[in-house]
Amino acid sequence: METIYLDNNATSKVAPEVLEEMLPYLRDLYGNPSSMHTFGGQVARNIRQGRERVAALLKCDPAEIIFTSCGTESDNTAIKGTLAAVPNKRKIITTRVEHPAVLTACREMENHGYTVIELAVDEKGQIDLDELIDAVDDDTALVSIMYANNETGVIFPIDKIAEIVQQEGAIFHTDAVQAVGKIPLNLNESKIDLLSISGHKLHAPKGVGVLYVKKGTRLSPFMVGGHQEAGRRAGTENVAGIVALGKACELAATNLDEENTKVKNLRDKLENTILKSCLQCRLNGDKDNRLPNTSNISFEFIEGEAILLLLDRFGICASSGSACTSGSLEPSHVLRAMGVPFTAAHGSIRFSLSRYNTEKEIEFVIEKMPEIVNRLRQLSPFVAGQ
Ligand code: PLP
Repeated sequence: METIYLDNNATSKVAPEVLEEMLPYLRDLYGNPSSMHTFGGQVARNIRQGRERVAALLKCDPAEIIFTSCGTESDNTAIKGTLAAVPNKRKIITTRVEHPAVLTACREMENHGYTVIELAVDEKGQIDLDELIDAVDDDTALVSIMYANNETGVIFPIDKIAEIVQQEGAIFHTDAVQAVGKIPLNLNESKIDLLSISGHKLHAPKGVGVLYVKKGTRLSPFMVGGHQEAGRRAGTENVAGIVALGKACELAATNLDEENTKVKNLRDKLENTILKSCLQCRLNGDKDNRLPNTSNISFEFIEGEAILLLLDRFGICASSGSACTSGSLEPSHVLRAMGVPFTAAHGSIRFSLSRYNTEKEIEFVIEKMPEIVNRLRQLSPFVAGQ
């Protein structure tokens, strides 16, 4: 059975060109870039090239790129590194729909005497900028608002937000883990201070990430030890991962148009057909203002997990909007924040596509979905009239 992979917001396939480029650094060129000998030292220039390629995709200076181990480390560094660098300010502003890498790090700071404000979102998953303007003040150290939501794909007006935050003298971080490689960014023209990336979401392997730090931004190191990354992040560099992420960024830059044409068209075809062919389902999020690859659909009166299990029998990989914690199904905090009713939040499925998906795969999923939904509805004790 072939795998139809529609879970790219969870993780993505390593691009063949990326794998090819990184392999020599695992096999032959294993030296430490900090070594004095030529064998080790020679890979320092490959790290430099990786940095330049990431900077080219983000349109920023290579010196503004710090390599990390993942998106979670980048988010934690941004939050904890900012608070340590600005000790006299005691307020953090974020949103209710952030990834746990941001939400948990912010909530943890409440135990250290910080006030954390989590901005609400409307039914489309969008924040109210007036609420942000009211909340941010001269006691605000950091505002952390994601570029695009991982569950719904909803995009936030990040450049406008960054301007509001800058006017109040606070530092602005955005978790762009889901946005980079899917929509164009131009950091030279933006007021964003800190931005997180994760390699495995854009066809590089797991174990490498980036924190962009705008020149002049105050930030204390989160990882201390050696002098790597100009003293901003200690730890021997993941050379193969950095080379891979550089290549993935180069590919992403050339594939951005495809992301917004081919991938978006496939996503729209999948979504529109499912919404027509399966009864009692609804789109979660903002139909227009979202990532081109993401679709989050709720199927009333059935469990997302049950849909996933039946999809899995056909080799189809997707995600559900609820997570099994302590034996009970907890609906997604994102959908709950958007006011999605409990029964709909429970039955939500996220499809997230990539440039590797084909028309044939999408047609197969479109054919199977009504069968799966009808079968589960027949078993559901909650369906009206049954
Ligand atoms: N932020 C967002 C929006 C994500 O979607 C994810 C991963 O799902 C992360 C952060 C964490 O990234 P990583 O898995 O690289 O730690």
